Amino acid sequence: MALIRRLPWHGAAWAALRPLHAREVHALLLHGPAGIGKKSLALDFAQSLLCESPDAQGHACDACGGCILVLSGNHPDLRIVVPDAMADLRGPEAPVEETADGESESEDGVLSLSNEAREGGKKASREIRIEQVRALADFFGVSTHRGGARVIVLAPAESLNQASANALLKMLEEPPSATRFVLVSDSPDDVLPTIRSRCVLQRVAAPDRAVALQWLREQGVGDPDEQLAAAGGAPLAVMEESERQLDEATRSGLLALLARGTSLPAAEVAAGVPRTLPLPAAITLFQRWGWDLLAYRVAERVRYHPRHKASIARIAAASTAEGLLGWLRALGQMRATSDHPLNARLIVEAALFSYLEALQGARSGT
Ligand SMILES: [Zn+2]
Repeated sequence: MALIRRLPWHGAAWAALRPLHAREVHALLLHGPAGIGKKSLALDFAQSLLCESPDAQGHACDACGGCILVLSGNHPDLRIVVPDAMADLRGPEAPVEETADGESESEDGVLSLSNEAREGGKKASREIRIEQVRALADFFGVSTHRGGARVIVLAPAESLNQASANALLKMLEEPPSATRFVLVSDSPDDVLPTIRSRCVLQRVAAPDRAVALQWLREQGVGDPDEQLAAAGGAPLAVMEESERQLDEATRSGLLALLARGTSLPAAEVAAGVPRTLPLPAAITLFQRWGWDLLAYRVAERVRYHPRHKASIARIAAASTAEGLLGWLRALGQMRATSDHPLNARLIVEAALFSYLEALQGARSGT
């Protein structure tokens, strides 16, 4: 599940997608430049289709049973079809092992480890294989678990090979009922024309420079001007780069604090946070910890931090989904209020206090 959602420059595309809710369009192709968050938009749309009480703008509520299953990567009516090289997008069924050189973010703000690390030396495929498309037949064979839509997010569509594209085409020609395909592509010209012609095409525009810069500032990225230029105007590529900047010692130090859960004395928070650290990377680490706690609560699965499974199980057992969602929301806001890199340490401390409050709230039954 992409961690970066509801990007501010997706408003126009979102408005165009909304009528498709009602129109029962069964296949959609989101296309536009790389690094602008098309996969995030696809997941936002998928979640809105599975949400039990979307708001007036059609955005998912982030709080209902359907949303909690989507956010924790466990919704039975959502399938994410991506090449093995992007397997972490699929959800927690295949835990991602941590590597010594840490995690990195792919262009759309989702965890992506080196292929070698995941496959034990064997390179993970960059194609969507025919077996992955065929596996959808089982998904179509059963009625939807929650009585609503069945949603498939497939990205990037240009990574379908000839065999898998043909298998998908058959499904698009005779779509199963109540099923929505959301395809994503950086280069729709490389998608089989017969597939393209079965889809409603929706272009996703790159953000204006000012909007992208403002968003990057809100994410705590220092010198966004220079970085945005270096990334060719793609803000999610900038995030990918800035999130690579957490060194191993800082990363394991922060994880050690989180793993103590409610036994972490507030007095030790300040002592445990380094004097300087890259805020976006630290907040992303905290968000992944939060998603892991939520996924463990919902389905006893751990995705990002399998080495800390025992701590996650213990802390998750004493937490509530509401408390964890509250903390995740607070983390998003903390990112947004950081206007200067020198504040990073204070914000990280505040994030840890907020974590303790979320856990203690659950403990005292509030
Ligand atoms: Zn919802």
